[in-house]
Amino acid sequence: MKIPPDEDIVPVKLTPTSGMFADIVFDRPLDHAYSYAVPADLVDRIGVGKRIEAPFGRGDKATVGYCVNIHEVLPPREVKIITRVLDDEALLTDSLLRLTRWMADYYLCGWGQVLQAVLPAGVRDQAGTREAIILEAIPEAELPEPMSTLTAKQSLALEKLRKNGGPMEQRRLGRDAHVGPGIIRLLIDKGMVRKHTERVERIEPSAVAEAVRAKPIQMNADQERVWTPIREAVQTGGYHAFLLHGVTGSGKTEVYLRAIEEVLRQGKEALVLVPEISLTPQTIERFSGRCGNVAVMHSHLTDSERGAHWRRIAAGKVHVVVGARSAVFAPLRNLGMIVIDEEHENTFKQESTPRYHARDVAVMRAKLENIPILLGSATPSLESWSNAQRGQYTLLQLPSRVENRPLPPVSIIDMRYERRSGRKFSAIGPTLEDAMNVALKAGGQVMLLLNRRGFSTHVHCPACGHVVNCPNCDLTLTFHRQRNSLMCHYCAHEQPPFRDCPACKQPAILYQGIGTEKLETEIAAMFPGKVIERMDSDTMSTPGAHQRVLDAFREGAIQILLGTQMIAKGLDFPNVTLVGVVNADVGLHMPDFRAAERTFQLLAQVSGRTGRGEKGGRVMIQTYTPEHPSILLAAKHNFLKFAEVELTHRKAYQYPPYQRLARLIVRSEVEDAAKSFAETLAGAFREAMKKPERQNSLRLLGPATAPVYRLNTYYRYHFQLQSPSPAVLHAVLREVLMVAKPPSKVEYQVDVDPFNML
Ligand code: ADP
Ligand code: ZN
Repeated sequence: MKIPPDEDIVPVKLTPTSGMFADIVFDRPLDHAYSYAVPADLVDRIGVGKRIEAPFGRGDKATVGYCVNIHEVLPPREVKIITRVLDDEALLTDSLLRLTRWMADYYLCGWGQVLQAVLPAGVRDQAGTREAIILEAIPEAELPEPMSTLTAKQSLALEKLRKNGGPMEQRRLGRDAHVGPGIIRLLIDKGMVRKHTERVERIEPSAVAEAVRAKPIQMNADQERVWTPIREAVQTGGYHAFLLHGVTGSGKTEVYLRAIEEVLRQGKEALVLVPEISLTPQTIERFSGRCGNVAVMHSHLTDSERGAHWRRIAAGKVHVVVGARSAVFAPLRNLGMIVIDEEHENTFKQESTPRYHARDVAVMRAKLENIPILLGSATPSLESWSNAQRGQYTLLQLPSRVENRPLPPVSIIDMRYERRSGRKFSAIGPTLEDAMNVALKAGGQVMLLLNRRGFSTHVHCPACGHVVNCPNCDLTLTFHRQRNSLMCHYCAHEQPPFRDCPACKQPAILYQGIGTEKLETEIAAMFPGKVIERMDSDTMSTPGAHQRVLDAFREGAIQILLGTQMIAKGLDFPNVTLVGVVNADVGLHMPDFRAAERTFQLLAQVSGRTGRGEKGGRVMIQTYTPEHPSILLAAKHNFLKFAEVELTHRKAYQYPPYQRLARLIVRSEVEDAAKSFAETLAGAFREAMKKPERQNSLRLLGPATAPVYRLNTYYRYHFQLQSPSPAVLHAVLREVLMVAKPPSKVEYQVDVDPFNML
């Protein structure tokens, strides 16, 4: 009789072990923890949250894994033995371990994968630290020999060390006393000096410059009203989620600052998440001016800087962390509250494994740590909005701007009728051009939004109709004039531009479609003598570029600032009296159920950039679809109505927030292989959905070719699973994906709560 492997109990070989076992997870997809025996000599060193090395997989290759549990339960079969413990201290707190465990379950990936992604490389390899030899002088009374037996150099060194009054690093003593390591070794050998080694920071992380201490602003009645329940929640502690919906300029940040101050008064720590783009010196100064000891975590930190921050935070030396997406994992041990500004921002979603959303992870962290969380936005995501409607979050509202400043009037300009007779077509219609002239003449500044970079966004041949596509992707190439090249904005393919059509060889190739680069040249011709700056990822690639432009704009050295969505968020310039949206339709017709929501958010955000000062301001939106609700309602600053209209839509089409969504993408460089595995996988899901308790609670759409069929040389098929119940959705995903084995040259990705639908 054959015994199934699970009951195949073989006693553990106990030779070098201790009776102690450790559960280890590795950096592998959808894997479970493996039990290993802890050898006697590692019993004192092993610990939960530390990395270990152990034989793993075929061939027992030495592999690094994370210890997630220690116990004395004899495993049901023979286990291997841990060979090394890599860390002196646990890299993760208990609460971060629980959080990452939840992420692995929720986002359908391996716990080890999550840990690998969450821990900064600089923490894993101790980048930025070094081994230091620390010396201590033996007290005079305990000296084995009298001082007089020492040479002059030796006693000078010993004197210096004594004068220091405490332990001192060997290399500093060497420098100060002008002695080499030989002399110090002799002192140690004679028993006059003791030494030990320690890991020290190579450089102290550049602390945020102590900002000038700012005083709290006198809050207005609305701010007081929303502040009261937040204060109570911070004081009593316990999980409580708030959604703060406040129009642009309503003073949300003041409410965040009050909350953080209250957290600090309680002797606790605060975590503030903001979109990467908002981490400007202006923002940082606002926080550090009020909250003192602030660590800033953004994506431009080097590994060793990130590691140093992490260690300082873990050591309890930082009380407030302000950071972008990954700062949600900051190892604060005594967290009192989490704040997320611009909670609707897409950049909180990570587009590689683990495909987490920092807002959702933050809410889970708040639950696990039993603390309040405050989500803020002028245009809340419909997910958060519906959570507030259903009472999951407490809704707080700031309906007007501070000091009764009005929201700016917005005009919609129908581009179908915008032509100046006798003039060539321009991206800027006559109405917007006139308004710009008026604003500039009155000494105001202008911001122009065009959410498309490059010069020409569409290159084609009028003779044969050939459109120039990326050789790796189903996407058109964009012409960049300054670089003089055709570029793919997805896969970074770049090639020289054509003069003749590559298909029919006619010398007739046309460069059409306007990006920010071309807009800049048009504006320069239209407004001679004005200083114009362009802000997009092409011009802003060097560190500090962003800040230089913003500073110059603030000082009035720039009259017209144009750019992609980079300019739409968070900037506060009182002298901007006109905001122009060059083409509001850019993102509207994407095959993505969030296209309308994104367009509304972008228009509302960019409109918020004006009317912030005494001079007031106005907004002009150029569009070919003036009747679209996203545009109409953004022009009226009417988020409530927009949410109502859009939610009706979402409900009818069974999209989030009414249904949970998971997207599966199957890709391969072999077209048929991708297609056939997508069908197999979808078939396995259909089968799993037949279980009686699951019927009618799940829907599968597809498989079909992805909207961008070919990307980065891969052919892509996708399908979606929908369910009103996250539990059912997850059960099915887990059941099928645990055993799904793609054939060679085929890969699949699972995206829970997807944002990218292309
Ligand atoms: P939001 O984050 O809602 O866009 P901010 O917090 O940036 O708004 O506030 C906009 C401006 O109003 C800031 O310059 C801020 O200092 C100022 N402000 C905030 N609250 C008040 C208040 N109660 N009275 C006067 N000015 C305020
Ligand atoms: Zn490409």
